[in-house]
Amino acid sequence: MADSTASTPATYTLYEARKKIQPSSVRGTFRSIKWALLVVTLAVYYLLPFLRWTRRPHEPSQAVLIDLERGRFYFFFIELWPQEVYYITGLLILAAFTLFLMNAVAGRIWCGYLCPQTVWTDLFLAVERMIEGDRRERLKLDAAPWTAAKLGKRSLKHFIWLMIAWWTGGAWVLYFADAPTLVRDLATLQAPFLAYASIGVLTFTTYTLAGHMREQVCKYMCPWPRIQGALTDEHSLAITYRRDRGEPRGSAKKNAALKAQGLPAGDCVDCFQCVTACPAGIDIRDGLQMECIQCGLCADACATVMTKLGLPTGLIAYDTDANAARRRRGEPPVSKVVRPRTVLYGLLIVGVGLAMLTALALRTFTGLSALHDRNPIYVTLADGSIRNGYTLRVLNKRPIERVFTVFVEGLPGARLELATAPGEGDHPTVAVGPDTTLELRALVFAPAGAKIEKSTPVTFRIVDRASGEAARAEDYFKAP
Ligand code: SF4
Ligand code: SF4
Repeated sequence: MADSTASTPATYTLYEARKKIQPSSVRGTFRSIKWALLVVTLAVYYLLPFLRWTRRPHEPSQAVLIDLERGRFYFFFIELWPQEVYYITGLLILAAFTLFLMNAVAGRIWCGYLCPQTVWTDLFLAVERMIEGDRRERLKLDAAPWTAAKLGKRSLKHFIWLMIAWWTGGAWVLYFADAPTLVRDLATLQAPFLAYASIGVLTFTTYTLAGHMREQVCKYMCPWPRIQGALTDEHSLAITYRRDRGEPRGSAKKNAALKAQGLPAGDCVDCFQCVTACPAGIDIRDGLQMECIQCGLCADACATVMTKLGLPTGLIAYDTDANAARRRRGEPPVSKVVRPRTVLYGLLIVGVGLAMLTALALRTFTGLSALHDRNPIYVTLADGSIRNGYTLRVLNKRPIERVFTVFVEGLPGARLELATAPGEGDHPTVAVGPDTTLELRALVFAPAGAKIEKSTPVTFRIVDRASGEAARAEDYFKAP
């Protein structure tokens, strides 16, 4: 904060105490959209773990499950193994490009409508409003001395907040185990400690972030407001106060009188309804600010005022910088949703989406990896032959036992031995159970006198004896 007196030098504080924001309730189009999205997103989050999905007999029947014990991720008909974590990476890239596109089209629309911080804060605010009343009553309650009634209201509010926070943490852990079973185990105190610890941490964070910190999370903790400026341009929609129409502002009476005299008067009646409705506590009439999450509640508040005054709504509305400039020049507004950056993001989304779908469609159900022994890297045997040791991991992603023939290629005259695997001719075979990874010890022998390099590329190959499905893994054969 600056001190501008002439006699003392300017001083600044690096800390600004939080000013508590008590937003008023509003009705309108954007508020209705926010309620609808809140109900849908929370219903999905809380209920999805209970949705069942029919799979094979030995597999879990939960539609969405992160099975840490077996190392599987189930999403309806898709089952991913740890080796396929790149699908999750692909999904994250897809989510990032979608966020970029949303931003290019309509600014921080994600923040205002779908971000978990916004959704849970809205829910906590609704509880607060239900118990303590709207803005005016809450401000009075804040200022009132502590009485039994105030204590009762505050206790009830915090109790319900804690219950919601607890359910939020509880729902989260249900994604990691069979939900009905885990609910029963949690209730009978037989669930793993990690489940209780996770619920505890999430209860605390939800209660703190949505109940107490609210807009401060968006303002100070989230990096998105700093990044998103680079992703918008003059054609991106943003909540905008139509200065050309609203100014000069003044009371309804004064502005009506000025208008009657043919003097300049704007439509803004300086009622502050847009300011009191704002969950970020800002005045959008000062222009677009970093704190604005583009929730549109100020637009709803202003639309109510305009309707009461018999004036057209839209004094605060989603608008673009380009159109604001066009209005100043007396030109009609234009809509430019299709432009290079939106096309680019759209193409990237389609490209990544198609790549993921293709990878999913061509996904194999057989896998192989090879890991050379670190020490010794080779052994020269008494007969002059050279031996290298490897660990092979054979993946059978099918729900049936399969028998694979194992080959080693790239080394002339080489012989392969697998510990505990029967041989058939020159090539050993191995049986791998359904939906299983089998780890094998493999020994490769180069005959005495063979002319081989110090490091020769070799390929291990497995072939399903029934279906012919194959997989391969590359490594090296080391020699003196
Ligand atoms: S200024 Fe309007 S759109 Fe921005 S956060 Fe406040 S109420 Fe939401
Ligand atoms: S709600 Fe509308 S009329 Fe009231 S102060 Fe805000 S912009 Fe002006």
